[in-house]
Amino acid sequence: MNRPRGRPRAHCVCTSCGVKVPLYTDVPCYVMSCPKCGLTMTKEGAKPPAGDDQGPNIIR
Ligand SMILES: [Zn+2]
Repeated sequence: MNRPRGRPRAHCVCTSCGVKVPLYTDVPCYVMSCPKCGLTMTKEGAKPPAGDDQGPNIIR
């Protein structure tokens, strides 16, 4: 069925320590917890939540 293959669907990134976890399922990143610090994770490449900007966004 939905077995993990070589390539994950996406990556989740910890908003705190920055650890990156491959995502093989349909589970959204925000329901996952960081394996290191246990905080909420976010989808890689997603914009950070508003209100916590560290400066102007870098647009490529
Ligand atoms: Zn973390």
